[in-house]
Amino acid sequence: MSRYIGPVCRLCRRETAASKTGEKIKLFLKGDRCLTRKCAVERRGTAPGQKTAGKARTKTSEYGRQLREKQKMRRYYGVHETQFEKYFSEAARVPGQTGRTFLQLLERRLDNVIYRLNLAASRAQARQLVSHRHFRVNDKIVNVPSYVVKPGDIVSIGERSRKATVVESNLEAARNSRPPEWLEWDEQQYSAKVLQLPAREQIDAPVDEQLIVEYYSR
Ligand code: SF4
Repeated sequence: MSRYIGPVCRLCRRETAASKTGEKIKLFLKGDRCLTRKCAVERRGTAPGQKTAGKARTKTSEYGRQLREKQKMRRYYGVHETQFEKYFSEAARVPGQTGRTFLQLLERRLDNVIYRLNLAASRAQARQLVSHRHFRVNDKIVNVPSYVVKPGDIVSIGERSRKATVVESNLEAARNSRPPEWLEWDEQQYSAKVLQLPAREQIDAPVDEQLIVEYYSR
């Protein structure tokens, strides 16, 4: 299945319009812009193509809610449908809470780790930087954004890559931010250690994973 190449802010606006609580759903797909007042969700919370907030709201079925949640999570992490289903099957095979394991798998993707370390402005940029061979895992170049890290892994920036303009400016921006507690950034070594599996409360994803479990369990 092809990747969505339309205006990404539409996706956030659609999720916000579908939110039952009126909460603003930000998927953080546009880097720094998402943190400014230029964010489309901050400026207007209406669905794409809808001029007035609250207009054309329809009752959503249980299936509709589950589907929306699944699409939201898939877009948040920028994962294709087929790959997304594979993550779910893998999570379902692990004893314990499937929803949490599923979320952990997505969170441990290398592109997401780079984004969480603030070494990329967005997951899309992180994917590009990984594909361009800027990062290593345990001293080996990894150019696969879907690579899943595990506790004890060391993610580092290649020596030559530290001087690349985009990496340099991201490193500068990263100095003012803190990664989640399951990752430990070492500024001197340009590397991060994966300390543990991310706990649910350490995963800042605006999704209800239980709805997705229900979606795939139909
Ligand atoms: Fe979503 Fe970012 Fe666009 Fe805001 S700026 S609507 S958070 S993609």
